Amino acid sequence: MKNTKFSLQTTSLSLKHYDSINHQYNGPHIDRPIALILMLILLPCFLINTVLALCTNKCIFTRKQKTDALNRTVLLPTFSCGIWVKTAILFDIYAGKISFCGIPLTHSLSPDIQFCVLNQMKCKAGLFSLYDLHLRTGLTVMNKEQLLEQQLNGNTTDYLMLIIKSFMAIVLYGRAITVLKKAKSLSLFGLHVKNTTMAEAVDWITQTQADNTQIGFFVNVHSINLSISDPTFFNQLSNANALFADGSGMRLAARKAGFQLNGNNNGTDMLPYLCKSCIKRKQSIYFFGAAPGIAQQAARKLCKKYPDLNIAGTEHGYNEGKHTEQIIESINNSGCDILLVAMGSPLQEEWLLNHRDKLHCKTALAVGGLFDFYSGNISRSPLWLREIGMEWVWRLLQEPRNKFNRYVIGNPIFLYRTFVLGLVNTGEK
Ligand code: UDP
Repeated sequence: MKNTKFSLQTTSLSLKHYDSINHQYNGPHIDRPIALILMLILLPCFLINTVLALCTNKCIFTRKQKTDALNRTVLLPTFSCGIWVKTAILFDIYAGKISFCGIPLTHSLSPDIQFCVLNQMKCKAGLFSLYDLHLRTGLTVMNKEQLLEQQLNGNTTDYLMLIIKSFMAIVLYGRAITVLKKAKSLSLFGLHVKNTTMAEAVDWITQTQADNTQIGFFVNVHSINLSISDPTFFNQLSNANALFADGSGMRLAARKAGFQLNGNNNGTDMLPYLCKSCIKRKQSIYFFGAAPGIAQQAARKLCKKYPDLNIAGTEHGYNEGKHTEQIIESINNSGCDILLVAMGSPLQEEWLLNHRDKLHCKTALAVGGLFDFYSGNISRSPLWLREIGMEWVWRLLQEPRNKFNRYVIGNPIFLYRTFVLGLVNTGEK
């Protein structure tokens, strides 16, 4: 039976295998009707742009040269003047020169992968791609080859969804990501936040050379709101050795300050990378926090997935009856290199800062509901929601009572503070 899945797995090992183009990218056939509808909607804008060009003696269109990930030249049209000049691309989509979704125009693939794609399927360059979508929302769950493979294996519904998600991400996070400043760290709401990719964040955690325990926190909309209403918590966050930007709210805030965040450094996406790095460096982890049995269950599941992972110990986070000193002793006796504390904000941050001098581990992180996810106690949001930065909607649906204040009240307050009061730039309190 013919294998109908497009694959990039076997690249250089069996290039001769790809002797015919036998895969079909399902989706571009809906380009023409969608382009036509959009062109009809945008007709007044097209007319204005055309009249303006004629009145100023300019060509109606100009073309900009781009290269797609397969190294092919693409000439993208724009109106010479007027409004929404880039919408001229709809003419080329309608004419079938370029697709809504296709081969990305934002990066290049290795020659092996290019050969592999070109020999397996006919696919045009695309305005949108799964890679660009993940780049815009800072997701780091797949590399660019995996994303391309997933995109090209999608069906028509996936294609339509990719158009919708890309459009939503552009509305939320803006189109011109390249005009934003890049910086190694930035000041958001008065806090010094690292602007790391996921790999850099993991390197910071596993490769610290300091003599004392390094403390890392993930700051998100909830922690920023807490820090503004509670100066003690603000000071606690300020005393960490590293603050990582977690979630789409931080992405919006950074954007408002003129910066592009390199990655969405949330603990849940980070854990698989952290586990792999710990295995490589022969480092061990200790899980402290969550309801009784949850940290243990998460540890068991992770050890099953990563048999070489060394989880030095676990302890639940409801230890009213047990002395903190005993817990610290058990963490230190385990000889762990990395401690993950999951007791929710601000408890976990407070605990870590109060006891950092007694801890012997290299690094300690506050990780919120991480063990709940990895134990399977709470399910993670579907990828499509994370792709548009809306994971919080899923969490709200799962725990409406617990999370009502945090999301339904907290999110609009955060947006008000960011966009109306402009606190993001000044960090005023
Ligand atoms: N928790 C705990 N001890 C406490 C209070 C909470 O261990 O005294 C745990 C709780 O069981 C949950 C985590 O802390 O696993 C908090 O998760 P939350 O959803 O608040 O974290 P988020 O990821 O949203 O910051």
